[in-house]
Amino acid sequence: MISPRSAAARRLAMVREAIADRQLDGLLVSHLPNLRYLTGFTGSNGWLLLGIDRVVIFTDGRYEQQVTEQVPADLGAQFVVPRERLLSELADRALQEFTGAKIGFESQHISHSTWAKFHDEADAVDWQPVTGLVESLRAVKDDAEVAAIQQAAQIAVRALGEVLPIVEPGMRDAELAAELDHRMVLAGAERPAFDTIVVSGPRTALPHASTGSRGLASGDLLLIDFGACWNGYSSDLTRTFVLGDPDDRQREVYAAVLEAQDAACRALRAGVEAGAVDAAARGRFEKRGMADNFVHSTGHGLGLEVHEGPGLRREAEDRLEAGMVVTVEPGLYFPGWGGIRIEDDLLVTEGEARRLVDLERDRLQALPL
Ligand code: ZN
Ligand code: ZN
Repeated sequence: MISPRSAAARRLAMVREAIADRQLDGLLVSHLPNLRYLTGFTGSNGWLLLGIDRVVIFTDGRYEQQVTEQVPADLGAQFVVPRERLLSELADRALQEFTGAKIGFESQHISHSTWAKFHDEADAVDWQPVTGLVESLRAVKDDAEVAAIQQAAQIAVRALGEVLPIVEPGMRDAELAAELDHRMVLAGAERPAFDTIVVSGPRTALPHASTGSRGLASGDLLLIDFGACWNGYSSDLTRTFVLGDPDDRQREVYAAVLEAQDAACRALRAGVEAGAVDAAARGRFEKRGMADNFVHSTGHGLGLEVHEGPGLRREAEDRLEAGMVVTVEPGLYFPGWGGIRIEDDLLVTEGEARRLVDLERDRLQALPL
């Protein structure tokens, strides 16, 4: 009989293989999303010292109970909850278990000052910087993770549907963002996945403008980039609208972005290089002489973090795999005029990529005045 294992136990088995592949004896995990992925623990302070046959989780007194509740028993984890000087305890334990051993540490996720102090205290361990070890496992989602991202997207879509009817001239961008955040939470979100971006008029030319105090006016472009967090997983969607009837240029730019998004979505499938998806979108803009107005990459992975691997960037060579969830979000930005972006969340499969949620995008939507 095969005993059922927790998701965390399956992931730990995978990460141990990856550790062995890199000729390491263990790994110190400091990045909280990685810690959550591997153990289920969601506290804001935690470290995982992982060896081939041991799992030691460190946190502080605030999470003493939570950590034992969240970490599944089949990890066989030991918990260390020092009242003070957590890093020194961690260093002592590392020395005790791993003196002379090659242990990876997440060099992109530890501050220089923390590392310097920790390393001084645990200098008899052969620390090896590693990057992307847990992240590369996280990039391929299991069914439950895909379902969580889909749920996060459905919540966001429902909330958007509720706020669009209340958009009117004079409303400030920040008010609209607050309404959307509020309704995402009422629809079941833990919180917005990131600071909701609502920008209007010429400010839509700034791809990641912060939501401002501008009042909406007739004829404005209105760009909303938003997502919900559900069970730790994020969605990330963008739609661009116009207040009142769109003019010819607005329609033309929207059509160009839509065409680029369609091309990128068609290119998105298991086995292709991430850069090929970016090239599919960028190539459409090049044909129209608008490539210089597409100032960011085509998309990014989505999961426990809003931005994670794989990046759909220019010339990125990583091969896409079935089970990855990515955004596809081309946009065109014209300083002084405005910008249009369309962003969707898709699951990579062996065949055509699957949109996780249906949200009107076939034409530039006019919001009634
Ligand atoms: Zn976005
Ligand atoms: Zn995005």
